[in-house]
Amino acid sequence: MDAYVSRKRRRISGPEKVRTPEPEPDIQGANKDVEEESTDFKLAVLASLHPNHNEETLLEALLISDGSVEMASDALKYDSTISPRKKQVIGYQSSLSSYRIGPAENGGPAKKTLTKKGKTVHLYTPEDIEAHTPCSMIHNFLPPEEADVLLQELLDESPTYQRGTFKLFDKVVTSKSTFCFYVDSWDEAERQKTEYIYDGKKVDDVRRSLPWMRKISIKVQEAVNLEIQRRIRDFYPGGKKLKYQSPDPWKPNTAFVNCYDGPKENVGYHSDQLTYLGPRAVIGSLSLGVAREFRVRKMVAEDDEYRKSDGSLADAQGQISIHLPHNSLLVMHAEMQEEWKHSIAAAQAIDPHPIAKNKRLNITYRCYKENLHPKFTPKCKCGVPTVLRCVQRRKGTRGRYMWMCHADYVPGQEGCSFFQWAEFDEDGEPPWAQKTKGERDKEGMRKEEV
Ligand SMILES: [Zn+2]
Repeated sequence: MDAYVSRKRRRISGPEKVRTPEPEPDIQGANKDVEEESTDFKLAVLASLHPNHNEETLLEALLISDGSVEMASDALKYDSTISPRKKQVIGYQSSLSSYRIGPAENGGPAKKTLTKKGKTVHLYTPEDIEAHTPCSMIHNFLPPEEADVLLQELLDESPTYQRGTFKLFDKVVTSKSTFCFYVDSWDEAERQKTEYIYDGKKVDDVRRSLPWMRKISIKVQEAVNLEIQRRIRDFYPGGKKLKYQSPDPWKPNTAFVNCYDGPKENVGYHSDQLTYLGPRAVIGSLSLGVAREFRVRKMVAEDDEYRKSDGSLADAQGQISIHLPHNSLLVMHAEMQEEWKHSIAAAQAIDPHPIAKNKRLNITYRCYKENLHPKFTPKCKCGVPTVLRCVQRRKGTRGRYMWMCHADYVPGQEGCSFFQWAEFDEDGEPPWAQKTKGERDKEGMRKEEV
């Protein structure tokens, strides 16, 4: 459910909205960072004004208008050079290496940045994808008949999925896709409903994972752990895991399932909420049914080079489009959520799938951390457990984590000014982890005594 809310919730209001009783420079900096991610917000506004243009066109209009929504909107109306894109075909091309811009010779990260401002580069092969994005891709992940059974299981349930709602300009807006949230047991579903907070409130629809989802989850777990090890070995500096990344094996215990019914259903640029996953989270994403485009964009640090005359930041880079066919597993690695944003683009046309017809179903397997249960995390002045965010833009504090009030994400509800830097150890565990480990050990001993 964090999937589509995050980009729209940014308010246009200035820092006065964030009331800080004792202002500290750092806090101001962090809030500024939140505001400066406004490209996505501007895109959301443009999209609502020009529903017939795709996101790529909107972004292009925004870029040539130096970030002014008004100018971009006029340009879209009057400038024939930014017409709605020609029919987008989910076509094929050979790997990038045929254009001599492929991955480094023996695998590993690419030396050159691939994207250019305002442009979209389409990637198809696993080698290109892992070299140029923080993702790895496994095509034909499951035996075909298993993928079909799993798809059918989800299709049967998908009519009951719901649309999320969020606030845009103080108006309640509905998401352009449906979703459902699954956990491993009904007991855990009950805990999710009563103890966890999403976008400032409790959720009422949490279900037990379906039989095939659970069965496949074991295969996803094995594949993702292998990919994590390979990523560390071949891509990370010194072959070591990233700071804050968990050294433990990845074990999925929750799954968000998204359903995109028809070419228009989409989700805008966002990063997934880290509140319960913790820093440097890894997510395994299995695509079924209609092939759609997954777009990723790297966030640039605040820098004068990218600063516009009005003080706002431009996007220094274009976007990369990864094609997600039926039965493909995409691993979003540990560097993804903090440094990149992703989206599912609306399409001009889709190829219907023999079983799913116009639908794409997508299971995102995630690993919730026990130590980030809301009973441990800081509460804001509204009494609500806070949301964990990462500074994506601002120089100096970029990469730092913060706990913030998110009570105002609920339509009709005001939030407070709560802000606190979030601290984690090398392995991404919060300061209270040692204590809780002690308590768990004691509890374990008590159980043994009984
Ligand atoms: Zn609050």
